[in-house]
Amino acid sequence: MKDLINVTRSSMPEFEEFMEEIKDLWETHWLTNMGEKHKKFAKCLRDYLNVNMVTLLANGHLALECAIAAFDLQGEVITTPFTFASTTHAIVRNGLKPVFCDINEDDYNIDVKKIEALITEKTCAIVPVHLYGNVCDVEAIDSLAKKYNLKVIYDAAHAFGVTLNNIGIGNFGDASIFSFHATKVFNTIEGGAVTYNNEELKKILYFLKNFGITGPESVEFVGGNAKMNEFQAAMGICNLLHIDEEIRKRQQVDKRYKENLGNVKGLKLIKPQSGVKSNYAYFPIVFDGKENLRDCIFEALENNQIIPRKYFYPLITDYECYASQFDSSLTPVAKKTAERVLTLPLYADLELKDVDRICGIIKSLL
Ligand SMILES: *Cc1c(COP(=O)(O)O)cnc(C)c1O
Repeated sequence: MKDLINVTRSSMPEFEEFMEEIKDLWETHWLTNMGEKHKKFAKCLRDYLNVNMVTLLANGHLALECAIAAFDLQGEVITTPFTFASTTHAIVRNGLKPVFCDINEDDYNIDVKKIEALITEKTCAIVPVHLYGNVCDVEAIDSLAKKYNLKVIYDAAHAFGVTLNNIGIGNFGDASIFSFHATKVFNTIEGGAVTYNNEELKKILYFLKNFGITGPESVEFVGGNAKMNEFQAAMGICNLLHIDEEIRKRQQVDKRYKENLGNVKGLKLIKPQSGVKSNYAYFPIVFDGKENLRDCIFEALENNQIIPRKYFYPLITDYECYASQFDSSLTPVAKKTAERVLTLPLYADLELKDVDRICGIIKSLL
């Protein structure tokens, strides 16, 4: 039987390399609470992402929750329904009301032409997602934010290492969050970060991730616990040494998919964006035509030990916990895309002959 090919496979450093990095933890016995590994990783990461300031957190979701909390917002937040659960949950868990904007058909990011009509007196922020690592229209979003005095917090969970005109993606908006979950392009097992330019935010994020403790005998904020520990930071230090090579290998896989599927009738690929250095995080394909075609192809691949994912289906507004409050027919492009999208396996060590095999199965069914 052939080995299972999953949608992704976590990148890991050599065992010895990691052992070497964590060795001194057995001398210091300092395992968490912003130790030496944490400091070292934060510095390396800041350089790699080419941003001013970085706060490390336990995971990407808490990075987003804390980033939103840091602005002390009230009211409505405009966001996309075509994303991972985390984006909306982070808004709702902050006591804010998500207002869903439809997506565009080019890159499936928030449709900036439809944002303005959703802005009300209660709107306080926009939380767009650089979905699949594709860059949102940051200029249009920025000018709307200025015009209506809104905060912009980017969910850049998919966009590690992406640049726009040589500017690190974490520089846009008031803050951006990254996820270093095991399934992402870059991982610290679990982990996340917020990037930003405002010195004040650094303090607030620090308090929010550490119980609101502001001094040995003072607790000024109702913070939680969202600290990244030393083992996570050590994994980050090691994985960061190999990230460029990982992304280069991903690029080869992406290229092979495009060679195989680029001119196939009945399915759509995302076009490369101009001025963008991609991280090749995902390879989503969207079928036109009948709704159940995607599901047939999903099953056929599964029968061949290949496990793609329906990223992002169901639409957030169709989740059991949200369906009674929202109407997914108000975001028809998102609805249609969620029903037809399939995200194919993509990771650095995926063999090109397996890419050919996956594409062969898809083409045989179209
Ligand atoms: C993965 C992900 C998150 C959450 O990150 P975790 O590190 O898994 O907590 C948030 N938003 C999006 C779009 C994601 O894909």
